[in-house]
Amino acid sequence: MSHNIRPVRGRFAPTPSGELHIGNAWAALLSWLQIRSMRGTFVLRMEDIDTQRSRTYLASQILRDLYWLGLDWDEGPDVGGPYGPYTQSERTEYYEEALKFLKNQGCLYPCYCSRADLLAAARAPHGLSSEGPAYPGTCRYLTPEEAARKSVLKQPSLRFRVSQERISFQDGIAGQQEFDAGNGGDFIVRRADGMISYQLAVVVDDDRMHITHVLRGADLLDSVPRQLQLYKALGLQAPAFAHAPLFMGPDGKRLAKRHGGTSLAALREMGMAPEQLIGWLMWIAGLAETPEPLTAQECIPLFDMEKLSSEPVLITDDKLSYLHRN
Ligand code: GLU
Repeated sequence: MSHNIRPVRGRFAPTPSGELHIGNAWAALLSWLQIRSMRGTFVLRMEDIDTQRSRTYLASQILRDLYWLGLDWDEGPDVGGPYGPYTQSERTEYYEEALKFLKNQGCLYPCYCSRADLLAAARAPHGLSSEGPAYPGTCRYLTPEEAARKSVLKQPSLRFRVSQERISFQDGIAGQQEFDAGNGGDFIVRRADGMISYQLAVVVDDDRMHITHVLRGADLLDSVPRQLQLYKALGLQAPAFAHAPLFMGPDGKRLAKRHGGTSLAALREMGMAPEQLIGWLMWIAGLAETPEPLTAQECIPLFDMEKLSSEPVLITDDKLSYLHRN
């Protein structure tokens, strides 16, 4: 495929609305290893597009945590680079430009639905995506007159018209994927308050930063069909995707704060060495035979995407005890 002939570039794109936990460290490490093992360029992008939930101190802490792990990047908010700025809140003009293009192509329409409308619609069975119940398309067919009447009362959000096609793609870890593009419904690209959606921002940024390889957590696997439709509508080339399985706690739920002691800051405060965490993550990934300490650099020759499981990784207390021993 033609993305193989572009220079290899990957990225880690954290959202500074919470502390990094071991699940994020795992995605960051794998993405870094994928790119470093191909001698590519690694980019760090701060995804603070949701300014209400993002915190500057968390953005700084995330960079500190990643450096502590032994990861580094060739371009990023703190080191600059040719495709900056590397902080989403400073990239609004690029998103607006893409919106203008999509609007001119007839891919967008204003949506006046209130939260209450959406909740009511959600009770009807329309399909589901990771962003909640599928939008039933209420405003898709408004006549210009109806839209004009509604616009007096409410600032609209902008939705992208999804097509009804079947989307298939090969995921580097999860394997062959098939989705009905229409399933998630028409999705928001700009909220009524002006906030640009994750889906749009990530596509614009990955393209402008010339990203060829995206490796991230499997929670974003079902965003790929939406992103692929945006790539197509914008006339852009999509990167190769790989989605790393999520960590599940002993209770079978996604590993989270409530399982305790899983934020990088907490581990560091406990006096853990980064090599201990990295070695443990490599063992969990099946890329190292034992949970012995390893530096990030030492892991580069061990990286093999073929060995990664597509199934969620169960982090039992027993496995966790290896992380916390000594
Ligand atoms: N900022 C997103 C997150 O932290 C990741 C986006 C991506 O990797 O595409 O969940």
